[in-house]
Amino acid sequence: MNIPSSKLPTIAIIGGGFAGMNLAKKLIKLQKFQVVLIDKRNYHTFQPLLYQVSTSSLEADSIAYPLRKVITKKKNAFFRLADVTSIDAEHHTIFSDIGELVYDYLVIATGSKTNFFGNESVEENSMWMKTIPQALNIRSLILENLEQAAITQDKKARKRLLNFVIAGAGPTGVELSGAIAEVRNNIIPRDYPDVDISEMRIHLLEGLDRVLPPMSEKASEKAEKFLKNLGVEVHLNTMVKDYDGQLVKTNTELDFETETFIWSAGVTGSPVKGLNASAIVDKANRYQVNVFNQIEGYENIFAIGDIALMQSENYPKGHPMVAQPAIQQGKHLAKNLERILKKQQLEPFNYFDKGTMATIGRNKAVVDLNKSTFGGFFAWFIWMFVHLWFLVGFRNRIITFFNWTYNYINFDRASRLIIRPFKLHKVKLEDKE
Ligand SMILES: Cc1cc2nc3c(=O)[nH]c(=O)nc-3n(C[C@H](O)[C@H](O)[C@H](O)COP(=O)(O)OP(=O)(O)OC[C@H]3O[C@@H](n4cnc5c(N)ncnc54)[C@H](O)[C@@H]3O)c2cc1C
Repeated sequence: MNIPSSKLPTIAIIGGGFAGMNLAKKLIKLQKFQVVLIDKRNYHTFQPLLYQVSTSSLEADSIAYPLRKVITKKKNAFFRLADVTSIDAEHHTIFSDIGELVYDYLVIATGSKTNFFGNESVEENSMWMKTIPQALNIRSLILENLEQAAITQDKKARKRLLNFVIAGAGPTGVELSGAIAEVRNNIIPRDYPDVDISEMRIHLLEGLDRVLPPMSEKASEKAEKFLKNLGVEVHLNTMVKDYDGQLVKTNTELDFETETFIWSAGVTGSPVKGLNASAIVDKANRYQVNVFNQIEGYENIFAIGDIALMQSENYPKGHPMVAQPAIQQGKHLAKNLERILKKQQLEPFNYFDKGTMATIGRNKAVVDLNKSTFGGFFAWFIWMFVHLWFLVGFRNRIITFFNWTYNYINFDRASRLIIRPFKLHKVKLEDKE
């Protein structure tokens, strides 16, 4: 990997997501380690706003941050664009598509990938949204289907083109279906006079008995009401069985003909090959870590963020796979690694829950904070503020703020561009995680 030898201990960090990037920033400041940040993309992705890219609200660049900026003008800090393929823990070595690296400490922060729960037809034919290229694929597909619907005389085909089906009513599914409903309500009547908006339908399918299952029941009720007001058709207790590219079959009597089926029903860990099988919790596909984020069975290998499963009394199934635990674990591990150098005792990680939120659309969001729940304009305002605050990079914040203001005033979605037309099989194979 062309990393010079150093007197300082080398820390390899795999993954420049919320966890890895925050850890790298802190460690680089300490100046006590040689830090090598490795990612298969040269940018950090702000995943919470991916749905705004896929629904034309934000440009892709405004939610990405170049990882080389983390190391700009910093000593003993390196970035390598590489896909890490395996780990040889015995020889303290990682292997990648650009070569190998010997480390003193290894931190795995590889996040998660979409979980299809073994459903091959869904994996083969649906759209999913974990990366910017995938969000752009969805954007193109939505716009291409609308263009097609504007010229299609065949009623059945038009129905398929104008039916949008989203599986999974967690925050991503709720936000996505709300945003598509806003496209229908605000953009179609102006841009597509040849499309009858009453023909465009948005279906949100959820296997459980409420939307936003990770949030409070009150938040779920409010969110469902907001969705219905926007015109989203919510189908609870509905599990997807199959999708052949045109028809979504479910466990109920309802099946859905659609050209746009978006799978947002769950994620699973994305570990790297090579560690002992006992280090991975099978069902979750995440590394079992102790309270110091050390992977079970290894002293100098750590896991943080989505990929780490840290069980505790308050979190028997591990922390939620969201940004805050990842950010907090990244920052906490930096302090513990410094403690290791100073031969001090490590401190256990304690998660500080800052609350959960989801937005459904313009002036509509829900927030669970401590034991209270609120929704509507105030919640929406807080959602916007928090997302701007955590968005990485000053430039990105300014651009996003400008875009949101413009869209709010004009009821617009300015990035309705088919830059790279979506061709199902070709593009998807390239972008497969
Ligand atoms: C659509 C969507 C919406 C979300 N919305 C919210 C939200 O509103 N609020 C919230 O708190 N959370 C949200 N989340 C979850 C949140 O984004 C994750 O919990 C968070 O990104 C986890 O951070 P991480 O650092 O563990 O992993 P990630 O941010 O996923 O980063 C992992 C990094 O590792 C890299 N990588 C993976 N494997 C390799 C390899 N083998 N070699 C090299 N590099 C590798 C990847 O390229 C990536 O950059 C959302 C997630 C998605 C997908």
